[in-house]
Amino acid sequence: MTGVGTAYLLERAWVDRAVHDDVLVEIEDGRFTKVSPRNSRLDDKGSSSQQEFQRPADETPTRLPGLTVPGLANCHSHAFHRALRGRTQRERGTFWTWREQMYAVAGRLDPDSYLRLATAVYREMAAAGITTVGEFHYLHHQPDGTPYDDPNAMGHALAEAAATAGIRISLLDTAYLSSGFGRPVEGVQLRYSDGDIDTWADRLGSFDEQADHVYVGGAFHSVRAVSPDQMKRYAAATIHVHLSEQRAENEECLAVYGRTPTQVLADVGQNLLGPRATVVHATHLTDDDIRILGETGTHSCFCPTTERDLGDGIGPSRRLHEAGSPITLGSDSHAVIDLFEEMRALELDERLATEQRGHWTAAELLATATAHGSLGFEDAGAIAVGQRADLVTLATSSTRTGGTGADENTAVFAATSADVTQVLCDGRVVFTRGDEVEIGRQLGDAIGALWPS
Ligand SMILES: [Zn+2]
Repeated sequence: MTGVGTAYLLERAWVDRAVHDDVLVEIEDGRFTKVSPRNSRLDDKGSSSQQEFQRPADETPTRLPGLTVPGLANCHSHAFHRALRGRTQRERGTFWTWREQMYAVAGRLDPDSYLRLATAVYREMAAAGITTVGEFHYLHHQPDGTPYDDPNAMGHALAEAAATAGIRISLLDTAYLSSGFGRPVEGVQLRYSDGDIDTWADRLGSFDEQADHVYVGGAFHSVRAVSPDQMKRYAAATIHVHLSEQRAENEECLAVYGRTPTQVLADVGQNLLGPRATVVHATHLTDDDIRILGETGTHSCFCPTTERDLGDGIGPSRRLHEAGSPITLGSDSHAVIDLFEEMRALELDERLATEQRGHWTAAELLATATAHGSLGFEDAGAIAVGQRADLVTLATSSTRTGGTGADENTAVFAATSADVTQVLCDGRVVFTRGDEVEIGRQLGDAIGALWPS
């Protein structure tokens, strides 16, 4: 199905940071060519309309009942971790239960099985309204560390999986060179390592994907896995780094470098902090770390459901935002794939941490979940003329959303991913209600094949 020349009449839609009734959108070649809320005063370059719609009588737009919001950006994903859901919780599920099983799955995947798994996972994301995934990808090589014939075979499998699911991917190819502060990689980590930073950068540079749905960026796994000297040898347009997820990382970093992880990144330079950079988790920060991340305009990607699942702690999302660090969201380990849950978690976790309500508005939270710029897609995330035509429609009369007002508070504080009824990405329908049965079966098959029965 193509989106060329299609039109939709959205019963309710989030346009220009407000909910409007009866929004007419027209789409050509995957982009919005007209966005026209009835009786609105929008003056967004050709999108304004204070009159009734003027359309030829023979062109009837498709009506989309419910509340439609822009496509959601999942800014931090490890697709293969989805195979752990429901399994790492057994026998109380300690951190070590999780890590052992994560390494077991990482050891079993090959490009074919990863293609099957990632396709199912990205279809689950599409069904949850996610239109761009930031895949923090470090499972590069064969089990003994030897590159595949195509050294980017795993990355190509992920790009193909996204294409099949109909969503965009920011492939954040990750350097992972040490098991911890200079210690050599061991066991399954051999699959992660390119040996040195130059070999990693060469492989990243050789990635030949030119498709419209793929953006290739870089990532350093963490200050544990890549030393500052290695980081200095690579300047990236877009770079993501795990940062201060757990206190132990901070303590070891201070012991080895005499600096916090944030200070280490700041010392490296190379745009490692800045508007094209993202630090992931940012959970345990000093006041000075928050100031540095804010002043540099570095994105902070929060993954609240994973941070909960792993017992990481609660990061200072509001303080980072106020310091100048834009917040983004990710489902990371995919214990849950539901950005509506991640959105409200920012506010609800702050309430638990501070014993006070009222940190984030629903409008601000919706903005965090629809920000695709940190993934290299600045032209997505708004229902506006010229933007990529993503539309995520929510039922407003479900058992969860009925009677909640059908506005941004419904999206953020009432809905779950199960309320998504239809998703467009780049003008194409990639999910409609009913597809979830087949997606569930696909997940069961792909994951079942990875575990001994
Ligand atoms: Zn991660």
